Amino acid sequence: MPKDFLKDTQDEYDVVVIGSGLAGLTAANTLARQGRSVLLCEQHYKLGGMATWFKRPGGHIFDISLHGFPIGMIKSCKRYWTREIADSIVQLKNIRFDNPMFSLSTTFNRDDFSQLLIQEFNVPEATVKEFFDTARSMNFYDDQGTTTKQLFDKFFPGREDVVRLLMEPITYANGSTLEDPAISYGIVFSNFMSKGVFTFQGGTDRLIKLMHEDLKKSGVDVRINVDVEKINLENGRVQSITANGKTIKCKSIVSNSNLKLTIFDLVGEQHFDKKFIEDAQEVRLNNSSTQVYMAMKPDEQIPEETGDLLFSSAAPAFRTDLLLSRDITSRTYSFYYPQTRPEGRPRSLVVSSTNARFEDWAKLSEDEYKASKADLAETTLDALEKYVPNVRERVDHVEVSTPKTFQRYTKHALGSSFGTKFEGLAVSRAIPEQVPGLYHAGSVGIIMSGWLGAINYGVIVSNDVDSYIMKSSTQSQLADSSK
Ligand SMILES: Cc1cc2nc3c(=O)[nH]c(=O)nc-3n(C[C@H](O)[C@H](O)[C@H](O)COP(=O)(O)OP(=O)(O)OC[C@H]3O[C@@H](n4cnc5c(N)ncnc54)[C@H](O)[C@@H]3O)c2cc1C
Repeated sequence: MPKDFLKDTQDEYDVVVIGSGLAGLTAANTLARQGRSVLLCEQHYKLGGMATWFKRPGGHIFDISLHGFPIGMIKSCKRYWTREIADSIVQLKNIRFDNPMFSLSTTFNRDDFSQLLIQEFNVPEATVKEFFDTARSMNFYDDQGTTTKQLFDKFFPGREDVVRLLMEPITYANGSTLEDPAISYGIVFSNFMSKGVFTFQGGTDRLIKLMHEDLKKSGVDVRINVDVEKINLENGRVQSITANGKTIKCKSIVSNSNLKLTIFDLVGEQHFDKKFIEDAQEVRLNNSSTQVYMAMKPDEQIPEETGDLLFSSAAPAFRTDLLLSRDITSRTYSFYYPQTRPEGRPRSLVVSSTNARFEDWAKLSEDEYKASKADLAETTLDALEKYVPNVRERVDHVEVSTPKTFQRYTKHALGSSFGTKFEGLAVSRAIPEQVPGLYHAGSVGIIMSGWLGAINYGVIVSNDVDSYIMKSSTQSQLADSSK
């Protein structure tokens, strides 16, 4: 008999959360703390979604998306998770850039960036100040017509080097481009510039373990290996889910599954207005990634001066199409030193990440796919040699992931690393107007993606869900008392 991963579930829950990415986990925890009964269903055998890791023989643990997030994570984790989680967030102090235009190190905050722009790039101090103030004052309700390119043209006309310094890390952090609305750049850039780039000490495995413990404490019914096949409606409202062949009733649903999958597969477009479906069809998915994971032999350490995050590029100029091309010119290296996981034997690991297009990998035959992965590993080792001399002799394990890998493990269409482009946010927020009781929380619209964006979106949506359940129960009590 196959194992029943839904054994002993309740017949009904206040909320079912579909997916255990950071938004799903946070929504589930927040709602359970608010006193709601919550079932969390994750199709994979691990919680965390893109916030994940894998282990390989020799004691190597690779993090997939733990490269850096803004300081806001400390506040969000303290408020919506635990002090232990918040206290484990530490700064990455050595962020490096190395490309044909410039090579520099920075702590990646406003003071340091201002100094660099004024002293190394000769930008007038008043312009730098005005740019930072403009970026910091941006919010979601501002003009969405101005693009990031127009913003840069206004402050730094003709300065491709300045644009590269300001844009390259953000493109890496959330896939945004010069053509995206300036607010999607300004908000994320200012979040980082407030205090720099942070990471989680102990690695993603420790974070997710601590989150799982807190979910259990909050009373969330956590189930892995549970693939939700259908969201069922009654009179247009949420009624239940069907997962692993079982139907479970609920008052409300938070889908942390990909936005498009939620609308078109889990619910079905016949349940939405025509205009809403047109808007949803127009939503563009964000790009995907390739990664090369490299673990050094146990006695081989990388000196910490090498940097924490290194944005390296051989391209003469910054261009989005070059960043996405299979002909790779840009790589972002994350260096994990022994203090990332202070317990156990000291280890140094490197993860090289590059933004990528799904179709470049999906179109390959099995043999071509294998060869392309091998080529990516080889060319990355060649490129890393510049920063880690003799790396080939010193490396113990090398492995590659592609957009197909991300799709396989998270079900994200096109293996999208950062959800959807900007327009996805309005569609995600409009779902409950279409299907009462149904909410979406997860990487959308650039602003709500990344670790911090996903956690914060989970909180926002859980508050909406709580109000919805409260309102519906008041309405049904009033209906009962008038009978
Ligand atoms: C290579 C890479 C590097 C990144 N680097 C960074 C970084 O440095 N900093 C940063 O802040 N962010 C980074 N990110 C982005 C960040 O990891 C994501 O934005 C964030 O983790 C997404 O969280 P989410 O809540 O949207 O859910 P996701 O992580 O997308 O998870 C969704 C979950 O839903 C589950 N699911 C889907 N459908 C179903 C179903 N039908 N039934 C049950 N379960 C389902 C999936 O299995 C998955 O677990 C990176 C991402 C990638 C891929």
